[in-house]
Amino acid sequence: MLDARGKRSLDAAIQRARDDVHAYHDGGGPERGGIAAHVLMPTHVIGWDLPRILDELAGPAGTPAVLYRLGCRIGRSNAAAFFAGNGRDGGDPLYRLLAGPFHFARAGYGDVEVLVLDAELDARFAVLWECAHSFSADAAATEGRRMRACHLQAGYSAGWCREATGLPIDARELACRAEGVMRCRFLLSHADMLEARLVEPRFHLAAADYPRSGPRLVASI
Ligand SMILES: [Zn+2]
Repeated sequence: MLDARGKRSLDAAIQRARDDVHAYHDGGGPERGGIAAHVLMPTHVIGWDLPRILDELAGPAGTPAVLYRLGCRIGRSNAAAFFAGNGRDGGDPLYRLLAGPFHFARAGYGDVEVLVLDAELDARFAVLWECAHSFSADAAATEGRRMRACHLQAGYSAGWCREATGLPIDARELACRAEGVMRCRFLLSHADMLEARLVEPRFHLAAADYPRSGPRLVASI
């Protein structure tokens, strides 16, 4: 539990991460090198057509793993490019971690609200987050498919956190809006602990039951 000083410090770190990511996306000059090296692709193609192509080529069982690994590589690459500019790595893993949701949102993958932030840099690491507007869930819902759809987003979050912390972090989507719930929910964990954490009740509360008194990390598209 954070004391008042800890809450102020975390709130300041969240604001700095948000401001830096927004400046990175909105600013000019060499800072935009990482962003300029991207291509724009329609979200429906990535969110719907690509999974169907993979189903044909790799089989339905292989599609989630391919999308997860692709997302992981994108997240790691985005994080490395962001940290490389203007000393943003700074040796501060918490700052590097906090920048991830804002970059994820500004890059168009979905909005983010963090519900649980256990940012210890060891096997205790765990982050629970939700997304109301994942483009992969939108694409699946538009096609009328009830399915867990956000493998790309799960992989992206794991990749960013791996680059930010140096830990072997993996992610799992616990529930998806394309399955009929209000928001997609993801659990990030140290890989050694992920299977055990999946059944911890504290990651399966209703969103309204998570504490709202401390600093909130909310990143909007
Ligand atoms: Zn989803």
